[in-house]
Amino acid sequence: MTMNYDCVIIGGGPAGLNAALVLGRARKNVMLIDEGQPRNQVTRESHGFLTRDGIKPSEFRRIAIEQIRAYPSVDFASDTAVSLTGSDGDFLITTAQGLRFQGKKVLFAVGKKDAPLDINGLAEVYGKSAFVCPYCDGWELRDQSLVVIVNGAKAFHFAKVISGWTSRFTICTNGPHGLSDAEREELQQHNVPLYDVPIRTIVSKEGQVQHVELEDGTQLPCTGIFFGPKLVIGSELPQSIGCAMTELGTVVVDNLGKTNVPGIYSAGDAASEMQQLIMAASLGALAGIAINSELLMENWEKASKQ
Ligand SMILES: Cc1cc2nc3c(=O)[nH]c(=O)nc-3n(C[C@H](O)[C@H](O)[C@H](O)COP(=O)(O)OP(=O)(O)OC[C@H]3O[C@@H](n4cnc5c(N)ncnc54)[C@H](O)[C@@H]3O)c2cc1C
Repeated sequence: MTMNYDCVIIGGGPAGLNAALVLGRARKNVMLIDEGQPRNQVTRESHGFLTRDGIKPSEFRRIAIEQIRAYPSVDFASDTAVSLTGSDGDFLITTAQGLRFQGKKVLFAVGKKDAPLDINGLAEVYGKSAFVCPYCDGWELRDQSLVVIVNGAKAFHFAKVISGWTSRFTICTNGPHGLSDAEREELQQHNVPLYDVPIRTIVSKEGQVQHVELEDGTQLPCTGIFFGPKLVIGSELPQSIGCAMTELGTVVVDNLGKTNVPGIYSAGDAASEMQQLIMAASLGALAGIAINSELLMENWEKASKQ
């Protein structure tokens, strides 16, 4: 059996959930499919979302779903969307559990996910004392002794950014540093130590980093780590239906979240390099309004012709 919806949302992080809230309040029939692997699932607390600063990610999600359930036209499926076919007005989405949903519009809110962590010991500290974004977790590590694992032009940029939270940090490029002589000199002027020996392992206790150990035996004691993760899009469905992608693996959208494929929208981390909960939620809300508006205009025109 195929169930019909005005919009099928794939992904139930803040982007997909906020789109569902907007569309539910606009009395649209919505199916939100979510496999439940949000990008921040490794963290204990989320920061920077007004009224929700410091909240547990699972609690954030619980409140969101509770509020959306007040709108009876929104359905939820805990499942993975595995295929998408069709065209504007008549898309067919199938899931890993064999469900089939027809949607007039589709919103990809599939997020980004980390490529496998390739440093020994990093998985044990990720989200506990190792983080990726100083705006999300810098405050908690302020004035602490940090190791920043990043290389090339990013390392130079990251040094300037992290200096806003602590002056006690070391850059560790985990292999060739990729910095110019001028950049290295500038780091020296600012008393930023730079190590380019590969990392052997990160030593930690119950998620708390103790030190970063390099291949030559050097130990860099620290209480926190920032690193530059490698990201991939949360699902290959956008590419499979023909969505244009940037070289960073982000769906190309206009300022309302519309992709190049008619009827397909994308929002949140999947369609943005600004990766924050509140930004994902706001892009989801924006796409929700754009989808509703397109549906209303189409219905109006159809009725005018009858
Ligand atoms: C360690 C860490 C800490 C962070 N801390 C903060 C913080 O403190 N403050 C902050 O503002 N931001 C923080 N972020 C960033 C924040 O998590 C993201 O910006 C935000 O989650 C993006 O929301 P989203 O809805 O776009 O995607 P996500 O939250 O990643 O949700 C995408 C959802 O889509 C699902 N999905 C993907 N493909 C499919 C499919 N085919 N079928 C069904 N479901 C699918 C996924 O399983 C997931 O549940 C942090 C990120 C990390 C990695």
